[in-house]
Amino acid sequence: MPIVSRRDFLERSAALAAAGFVPRLPDALYDTPSPVTDAPVRARPCIVSSSNGIRGVKVAYDRIVGGEDPLDAVIAGVNIQELDPDDQSVGVGGFPNEEGVVQLDASCMHGPTKRAGSVAAIEDIATPSLVAKAVMDYTDHVMLVGAGAKKFAKAMGFKEQNLLTEKTRQDWLRWKARLNANDAWLDHDEDVRIKFSTGTINMNAVTATGDLASVTTTSGMAWKIPGRIGDSPIIGAGQYCDNLVGAAGSTGRGEANIKTCASFLIVEFMRQGLAPEAACLKVLERVVAMTETRLLNANGRPKFDLEFYAVAKDGRFGGATLYSGGRFAVCDEKGPRLEEAAFLYRR
Ligand code: ASP
Repeated sequence: MPIVSRRDFLERSAALAAAGFVPRLPDALYDTPSPVTDAPVRARPCIVSSSNGIRGVKVAYDRIVGGEDPLDAVIAGVNIQELDPDDQSVGVGGFPNEEGVVQLDASCMHGPTKRAGSVAAIEDIATPSLVAKAVMDYTDHVMLVGAGAKKFAKAMGFKEQNLLTEKTRQDWLRWKARLNANDAWLDHDEDVRIKFSTGTINMNAVTATGDLASVTTTSGMAWKIPGRIGDSPIIGAGQYCDNLVGAAGSTGRGEANIKTCASFLIVEFMRQGLAPEAACLKVLERVVAMTETRLLNANGRPKFDLEFYAVAKDGRFGGATLYSGGRFAVCDEKGPRLEEAAFLYRR
């Protein structure tokens, strides 16, 4: 491959830009010294997660300080929510699609070995995070979807089960009944309004030697069109991890995340020297800039929320949301706790 010097590249880019072909990237993008290193480091072990991971961060932290692999640790952390029927954002009890079928998405990355795995729209398997890891461990692929993902899971020994709990089925029925006053489903006035809600768990780890891992698992957007997949199973959107830099993940409106490759971008901004929290905020600004008009309110702000979580290779961590009031879970030497997330807009 011909070697292009930085000067050649910039001159060529400028010429193309002048001719109207490509916008030239700001010089700062090239001039920022890269803080990354592949030398062994000593880091502060730390787990960062969405707030529903408050139990899981402790489990994952204890595992990494006990010497366990960071990806196994965070998957053990998110398994708690996947198997908890009361968490309606993930796994057993997760909100179904518009036809009442629970379809789950999950992905993971293992920093030390630079591998990734993912499953999308998988049905009847409670722990898609583990199926995503099995895709990573046992196949030459990164992503399996739908019926193929389920078939693979069964071949790997995962057990089929009904994921639709009675409570979640009742919520789905109420949503369905209230969808359209003129359809054949009778409304029940005593019913509370069921929101078009989202939820997910993302968890990221850094060990004492600076090894990183990330995982995200979800039932996705409630009442979605069958086959819809969100950001969670997309490597670089729902989560991303580069063992030289850090790991990041997301919860909230997946469609907004996907368009910005948000987790990848957070890690890239950390690579350029931003602290985790600053990197999350900078990507939220990008999300706003990429939001279509129909999703902006009268103040030009998004009508949805999106939450980011990030950890750097040295153990620094951060979380940020579009709107104030968000919290995220952390566990380090100070123990498990919820921290206030930084935000772009006060509610
Ligand atoms: N990000 C998930 C999705 O869009 C949902 C969520 O986190 O609330 O599928």
